[in-house]
Amino acid sequence: MMIVIMKTDSTIKETSNVIRKIESLGFQPHLSKGEKKTIIGLVGNGKKVDPETFLVMPGVENVVPILHPFKLAGREFKAESSVISVNGTSIGAREVVVMAGPCSVENRDQIHQAAEAVAKAGARILRGGAFKPRTSPYSFQGLGEQGLKFLRQAADASGLAVVTEVMSPQLVELVGEYSDILQIGARNMQNYTLLEAVGKTSKPVLLKRGLMSTIEELLMSAEYILSNGNPNVILCERGIRSFEKYTRNTLDIAAVPIVKKLSHLPIIVDPSHATGKRDLINAMSRCAIAAGADGLIIEVHPKPEEALSDGAQSLLPGDFEMLMVDIGKVAEAVGRRIC
Ligand code: PEP
Ligand code: MN
Repeated sequence: MMIVIMKTDSTIKETSNVIRKIESLGFQPHLSKGEKKTIIGLVGNGKKVDPETFLVMPGVENVVPILHPFKLAGREFKAESSVISVNGTSIGAREVVVMAGPCSVENRDQIHQAAEAVAKAGARILRGGAFKPRTSPYSFQGLGEQGLKFLRQAADASGLAVVTEVMSPQLVELVGEYSDILQIGARNMQNYTLLEAVGKTSKPVLLKRGLMSTIEELLMSAEYILSNGNPNVILCERGIRSFEKYTRNTLDIAAVPIVKKLSHLPIIVDPSHATGKRDLINAMSRCAIAAGADGLIIEVHPKPEEALSDGAQSLLPGDFEMLMVDIGKVAEAVGRRIC
């Protein structure tokens, strides 16, 4: 893939001529209109094209190849950070957005209590799984559509948006009816038919890093969604598997500034699945914001000791309230604020 960079004073007609030329050569054009520059990416299927073809066209400033394997997700294609709007909340802007709620939706009361508590403490988005990818087939698998209904009602009652996991392409439509963000779980990060299915919608997607995936693989999975036409991808660092036993996974905090440098997409951190331990969530959340994360997704349960999944890493509402105060200070120190 290469990108055609238009001159600052190029006209709309010159840009559309370039687009038409790209199409006539059998490539797919991808337009990125930044504040300063208009860039048109050529996505092909391995075919080569002579840069001269475009260099001679009026309005064209330069033609450069993109060397990274991810194209649309990279900063070369789009220099400005993407800001993704979810029900009026911006993710990827100055504000740090907090998503919180239980691991799973268990019943009406539990999700309503969780929603009320996290909204009161300042979260904007309610999390909760209705379809759960569990390590053991004998563990609680979620309430399915009934869970989605409870989740939506609880979020609406507390003025929150909803993020919840979708596990298969056939369920994208159903989950999309109840949620504002479609979550792709770590175990499905490279489920390409699922990535394609969410890529064909325009719903924001929360793409979690696989347990054994590199940062480049995460960005390539994002690329799948983008190349299917959905630009609204939010990345999530949730820890990777390592030899360390004191934590459930190892939080790769460096992934945050690395992704920020390579990609224009927002990235949030999940300290709950990264550590698996309640007493580490506050420190890791502060750390994530200091490193430049655009948000957090945190498990909070009204009664963690009774949780059907991930109780040991779920915060009590009181702990979560304190966390929100603590991360506010870090956000301020790095020129951001919790929204
Ligand atoms: C979750 O957030 O509900 C979850 C299952 O996390 P992960 O996919 O990161 O394991
Ligand atoms: Mn969980």
